[in-house]
Amino acid sequence: MPKSSIPMKRQKIVAGNWKMNLSYAQAMSLSDAIAAAVKEETTCEIILASPFVYLHDVLRRIGHRDCISIAAQNVSDKVQGAYTGEVSAAMLASVGVEFALVGHSERREFYSENDNQLAAKVDRCLENGIIPVFCCGERLAERETNRQMEVVAEQLTAALFHLTESQLSESIIAYEPVWAIGTGKTATAAQAQEMHANIRQLIQSRFPNAAGKIRILYGGSVTASNASELFACNDVDGALVGGASLKAADFISIIHSCNQSERNLA
Ligand code: PEP
Repeated sequence: MPKSSIPMKRQKIVAGNWKMNLSYAQAMSLSDAIAAAVKEETTCEIILASPFVYLHDVLRRIGHRDCISIAAQNVSDKVQGAYTGEVSAAMLASVGVEFALVGHSERREFYSENDNQLAAKVDRCLENGIIPVFCCGERLAERETNRQMEVVAEQLTAALFHLTESQLSESIIAYEPVWAIGTGKTATAAQAQEMHANIRQLIQSRFPNAAGKIRILYGGSVTASNASELFACNDVDGALVGGASLKAADFISIIHSCNQSERNLA
């Protein structure tokens, strides 16, 4: 497995993306279960990306703790005004949202979000103190023709490479191969490590001081049984978890694997 040439200690993240799932009552009980399981000595950072309407109450249930925060699943590319149905970064920040997913493949595919919009969303986040979790990843046909790095490099260049080095350092990238999302097909640890190391090298070539600092999460059918192997990869700084984040026991088990991998590194 390729090793990172840019070693640096980074706090790992386990982020749950609930998508358009769960009733209000289910969302609250999931929040309570996660909050109860996450102890202060948790070494990784937990992020819950709930539907917009639950965000404020999820935050109330998890409490204002350093180790656990909330994320929006989307954010407007506009500042404010007559954009019916949109939610601005300023609004999110005002209710305690610290992170926002940007460019999830479902947003790209079903809502035709393009590179210019995604770059603007990243900017709106950073202007309002929200950390963007920028999602990138190739489709199956692109992997089958060995174009995955080219595709991911284009996505990153278009949406993130206009940032300053310090803005990029604090942003988060989630590498999510489209063929692995919700399909039960996970990238192997070797495939994930290879892509993450390549992403870090690409960043290094333009932003040498950001490359060792930026956190790169893997997403795509992460489960309680494959998480440890992925977390053991040098350039995998955590996971963005969809389906398995909806079941408290599974998500908590992924958090435990992450804490264990942090302890192994210490
Ligand atoms: C996701 O949607 O970000 C995701 C990774 O989903 P799943 O874990 O279900 O593949």
